[in-house]
Amino acid sequence: RELEERVEQRTEELQSANATATALLQRDHLTGAASRRHFESHIARRFEKIVGTGEQVMLVMIDLDGFKAINDTLGHEIGDRVLVTIAERLQALTGTDDLLARTGGNEFALVCSALSPDVGEEAVCARLLEVIRQPFFHRGRDVFLSASIGVATAPRDGTTLADIHRSADIALRIAKKIGRDRSVRYMPAMGAEYERRHQLAADLRQALARHDIEAHFQPKVDCRTGRITGVEALARWRHPSGEQIRPDLFVAIAEEGDLIRDLGLQMLEATCRRTKPWIERGLIQRVAVNLSPRQLDDDRLVDEIRTILASTGFDARHLEFEITENYLMASVDDAARKLQELHDLGSTIALDDFGTGYSNLATLKRLPIDVLKIDKCFVDGIVESPGDQALVQAVIELAKAFSLMTVAEGVETQAQAFVLGALGCDALQGYHFARPMSGQDCEAFLQQRAQS
Ligand code: C2E
Ligand code: CA
Ligand code: CA
Repeated sequence: RELEERVEQRTEELQSANATATALLQRDHLTGAASRRHFESHIARRFEKIVGTGEQVMLVMIDLDGFKAINDTLGHEIGDRVLVTIAERLQALTGTDDLLARTGGNEFALVCSALSPDVGEEAVCARLLEVIRQPFFHRGRDVFLSASIGVATAPRDGTTLADIHRSADIALRIAKKIGRDRSVRYMPAMGAEYERRHQLAADLRQALARHDIEAHFQPKVDCRTGRITGVEALARWRHPSGEQIRPDLFVAIAEEGDLIRDLGLQMLEATCRRTKPWIERGLIQRVAVNLSPRQLDDDRLVDEIRTILASTGFDARHLEFEITENYLMASVDDAARKLQELHDLGSTIALDDFGTGYSNLATLKRLPIDVLKIDKCFVDGIVESPGDQALVQAVIELAKAFSLMTVAEGVETQAQAFVLGALGCDALQGYHFARPMSGQDCEAFLQQRAQS
């Protein structure tokens, strides 16, 4: 009898421990939101239930923007507290049938019924974004955060966990890409585009393995003497299908994946090898290569560049790095340090696409810049538009004040070249002088120009 009681008690204990363990497995220990595993089985069950009922279920994927910066600058403890607060705020918005989960370090997901999908979706997302945007108070300061959201609805965007997850994920990536602090709803066309990019990324990986990416070169002309002083290396890729893929596209694909390091290093090596004799023969003095801001995030970069310079015997003093400032740069201070190291090798740094996108005046002070490249979009209107002309003039004056060189790119006509010269621009680059050419064609071009 006593034994029986003990067995019973023990069984109860075990059951309760089991329940606690299950509960723990179902919850994320930090925020108390559902765990990823629990969430997935919940979705699977929910999908089974709606089959044939006409009911719809929404999967909302929420990714906190720039959360790494909070962890890095305020510490992990504060980072954790922010996550807990976010989870509480999101939880407060979820209904009894809904489930909130923490699916990754700074990722949450919500599954909920979509009663009237068109109104419902947007309203739900707007409220989610809103509560995340509310500042956090830390040490007398407001800390701001935003999120990117991707939404997919079952059964329209998929009926299996894998499909609906993929759809929401694609929408989320697009939300991140087009500027964060927003929600994007999945559309079938996005899937096709995603497939295409995915395939191109795989093809690019192969092309890099086979060293199929070629360096072409576009001359730069000294505005006063009319002589060619240097070239810019531009990547070219002929896809196995025969199609020439635009560099902005494959560079972006390389940046999204982990291919930009290889692409950048291969381009640098090919450029050093090809142009070293041109410099030795006095055909040009300077060679520019493009450096993606993503490459500057990599701590191996400077050493790898040094290695290539050593193995090709290329003198760093003839090299220029063209960089575009980018809001995605993990840390500007870190990028500035690496650029300074390249500068210390004797290379120069050019700020590409100046005046567009994210480049700003503060950058000029933070980064060791030697050259400003005036973007084609200002050159385009320089003859007809007094506004564009005033802008370019202001940039050139600014450059002079900072002792920087100016290069105008995308010069297509004699008239544009003339106006830029009159405004005091130092160098010009564009179809009017020469298009980007293969190494062989460029060499012939430079030789011919040197003789004439
Ligand atoms: P970017 O660095 O601003 O390069 C200038 C672009 O303008 C080149 O396009 C060039 O062919 C084009 N261009 C030059 N003169 C003219 C002109 O007179 N008219 C017109 N319409 N276009 C002109 P491309 O070669 O298609 O390269 C596009 C972008 O791709 C580059 O812009 C650069 O951001 C990126 N890119 C190209 N090669 C590399 C590379 O090796 N590494 C990295 N990170 N990015 C690269
Ligand atoms: Ca460039
Ligand atoms: Ca440019």
